[in-house]
Amino acid sequence: MPTKKASSAPAHQTAAPLTYANYIGGQWVPAKNGETFANYNPADTRDIVGYFPHSTAEDVAVAVEAAAEAYPKWRRVPPPKRAEYIVRVGEILIRDKEAIAQDMTREMGKILKETRGDTQEAIDMAAFVAGEGRRLYGQTTTSELPDKFAMTVRDAIGVCGLITPWNFPIAIPSWKIFPAILCGNTVVIKPAEDTPLSVYRFMKAFEEAGLPPGVVNMVTGYGETAGAPLVTHPTIRLVSFTGSTQVGRLIAMQAADKGKKCSLEMGGKNAIIILDDANLDLAVEGAIWGAFGTAGQRCTAASRLIVHKKVLKKFTHMLVERTRALRVGDGRDPATDVGPVVNQDQLERVLHYIEVGRTRDKAKLLCGGLRLTDGDLAHGYFIAPTVFGEVDPAAVIAQEEIFGPVTAVIPCHDFEDAIRIANGVNYGLSASIYTGDVNRAFRAMRDLETGICYVNAPTIGAEVHLPFGGTKGTGNGHREGGLQALDIFSEWKTLYVDFSGRLQKAQITD
Ligand code: NAD
Repeated sequence: MPTKKASSAPAHQTAAPLTYANYIGGQWVPAKNGETFANYNPADTRDIVGYFPHSTAEDVAVAVEAAAEAYPKWRRVPPPKRAEYIVRVGEILIRDKEAIAQDMTREMGKILKETRGDTQEAIDMAAFVAGEGRRLYGQTTTSELPDKFAMTVRDAIGVCGLITPWNFPIAIPSWKIFPAILCGNTVVIKPAEDTPLSVYRFMKAFEEAGLPPGVVNMVTGYGETAGAPLVTHPTIRLVSFTGSTQVGRLIAMQAADKGKKCSLEMGGKNAIIILDDANLDLAVEGAIWGAFGTAGQRCTAASRLIVHKKVLKKFTHMLVERTRALRVGDGRDPATDVGPVVNQDQLERVLHYIEVGRTRDKAKLLCGGLRLTDGDLAHGYFIAPTVFGEVDPAAVIAQEEIFGPVTAVIPCHDFEDAIRIANGVNYGLSASIYTGDVNRAFRAMRDLETGICYVNAPTIGAEVHLPFGGTKGTGNGHREGGLQALDIFSEWKTLYVDFSGRLQKAQITD
């Protein structure tokens, strides 16, 4: 259980910071070294959200051991019974949705509407995955031999290590934990260092739901000290990672070296194409939501707007007007449209890219482009929503993931040019097209090289019952969400039953 620090909260502190623990084998325990790290509110860094265990390999080892101990029994619990725990967790999340959303906004900044949505996504995932407990279908099929029966079943894999980012603090953990445990695995999760409170709350829901100890474990801490030991621990059979491409590649190499399974969801450089026959009001609205939702810190964020030259001037004018009107502030204020970026590193990274856009890329800064420091904003990591115009498709800001409230308007000549520009990046997560022409919409769906494609809607807004993931540098071929998530967390086992009473040999004819 969290404990109170001795010092009382200063005036700007919305609630006194508590000290939290790891969740291991159904117990709440501090890091073995007794150290903690502070979690700050990015809208006001004077507000400390809490202190969390600064875990190391020692804590990871205990958590993995707890998960390994729980595994043999859990894998034999019938899937519909496993699903009953997930149903209960979903009910607890429904009950606590508002409190979870408030905490989430406080710890990572996105506006309340979005943190409610993030929590809702976990609720939806619970409902979707729990239903699979009564399906988890395999196949029965024919055999080439007489009196022989053939079928397939999904089997659990073992202990899974889950490493998650901060931008969807409860939704992404839910995409991993629910399918993993439904398939009979046990897990250890290492949440992002910026959002341990959301995952703490998630763990509380599993505890209250009565999930057997050790099935789900949480170890908080930093990537190199708590994440890396989870990846390399010999008992971990599968690593499921969502985060940056840089870290994902490192994890892929470590997993390959140790012969572990590995699913990766990484960066994006997503584009919205706006053709000359698009409904421009709808397209602008979609572009604003796609580019500046979650302050642009979504893997699916629309950081490129590829606009047909015939509507370029009008679209750009409408976009800039709307962008200037966005209200930036604390995400807990209902009047706020865009919250802060998550931390100092992120602030510096985004400001760096803005500078690169201005100087190296020589793009036209149309609005924003600076840190906001008026009044209380000075205590947070606020960046004015930024639009660059006349951006070359090869420019750095049109190629690299910025992960902030910055978007680039890229002119295009025609449909083919738009598709070529959209596909001309190393990533392949999400793309969208605004057009009134059904033929062009279908050609775009055919030719865009992304895992997700939208027509007349922005690049963001995934639904849990559909596969989520990307091509090229975004992923390694897996998909989260949808039934495809089960493929990450289970192995196919093929079963043959020979009831002929004699030795029969497949493929041998004489
Ligand atoms: P990050 O890679 O810095 O961190 C992600 C997680 O990895 C964190 O928990 C971190 O502690 C951990 N980590 C860091 N170094 C590690 C190491 N050496 N070994 C093991 N674990 C380590 O990413 P972030 O800044 O938290 O998230 C932003 C990135 O995530 C963006 O690139 C974004 O596109 C991506 N993302 C992708 C998706 C997707 O589904 N494709 C979804 C959300 C976010």
